[in-house]
Amino acid sequence: MAVDTVESAGNTIGPFTDMVQRVSGVVMDTVAANIPGDLRPRAILITLVIATLIFLIRRGRGARGADGRERKTGYLNYLLPKDIYTHISARVDIGLWVIERIMRPLWAVSLFATVAPFTEQSVISMLQWAFGETPALQINYGWMAFYSLVTLLCYDFMFYTIHYTMHKVPALWAIHKVHHSAEVLTPLTRSREHFLAGPIWAAGTAFSYSIAAGIFAYLFDGGITQATIFNIGLFSLLFGFNGSFRHYHVQFHYPRWLSRWLQSPAMHHTHHSYLEKHWDKNMAAVTSIWDRMFGTMYIPEIDEFTPWGIGPKTQDEYRTFWQNTSGPFRDWYKMIRGGDSPQAGAVPASGNLVEKDLR
Ligand SMILES: [Zn+2]
Ligand SMILES: [Zn+2]
Repeated sequence: MAVDTVESAGNTIGPFTDMVQRVSGVVMDTVAANIPGDLRPRAILITLVIATLIFLIRRGRGARGADGRERKTGYLNYLLPKDIYTHISARVDIGLWVIERIMRPLWAVSLFATVAPFTEQSVISMLQWAFGETPALQINYGWMAFYSLVTLLCYDFMFYTIHYTMHKVPALWAIHKVHHSAEVLTPLTRSREHFLAGPIWAAGTAFSYSIAAGIFAYLFDGGITQATIFNIGLFSLLFGFNGSFRHYHVQFHYPRWLSRWLQSPAMHHTHHSYLEKHWDKNMAAVTSIWDRMFGTMYIPEIDEFTPWGIGPKTQDEYRTFWQNTSGPFRDWYKMIRGGDSPQAGAVPASGNLVEKDLR
């Protein structure tokens, strides 16, 4: 695109201008192609419609302020609370999001081009070794739905495993902490990650998708995966929707029975709380199945207090863009020097600090 502009304009352009135009063209195209699903107008509209319904049903209750406490408020402030959207954390989200978005295609392309085919072919070879040639089953909608479900469960399990590891291994927590240093939740917080987290998530996604793809390519002699790859049909809605509301300050609870199967957005509010009883809970992306199985599921009460961030003891070290970007390197340096583990700062369950906690 940048090349066309240069030639059709007919002006002489120096090599540096040309280079800058080309680079900015690539950057703009990349950003445009990578606007996350939850920030597209339709998804924002759905989020606002559901938030409005919750506002009406709960008569102005059910939204949180920047302190993580539920409060009654007027309609506009309910949808776009000033204390949240002017918070430094919301501004830092933007910077981290831009960096993450610029880097993402790099990781996604390189890992999908290497990890995915290797995993897929290994799965197919293993199945051929164990069960012989492909049974070449006939494709129908039932199988396609089943393929979507298996892909979803594989992805969710991989997400759970990586996420759990990032919380439990101090050197990795130093990276994931940047997601948790968000003191308020905005839809951009979903992509708030240290740039080093990108390849880890991308490798996990490529690995999980291609395990499912390998199994189904074997069963159907290839056909089914072409029909459904990257378009996990029925369940793509769940992916997009869960992601968008998880990082919005309005609480969206599901009935308790449903929360035992699917992570409600309100359950992710708990994941971002620095209260000790909420630590390392609700790790999966879409379902509650893996959290329930491994004992990390936590279904919060309606309006349960969830103060966000990494806790008063260490929050000051993870507030600005540069603090967050340099954070893992500072933490690793401290760890090598034998300092404290960079675990989140614990406070009593009430959230009220006593003098000694602040030291
Ligand atoms: Zn986490
Ligand atoms: Zn989150």
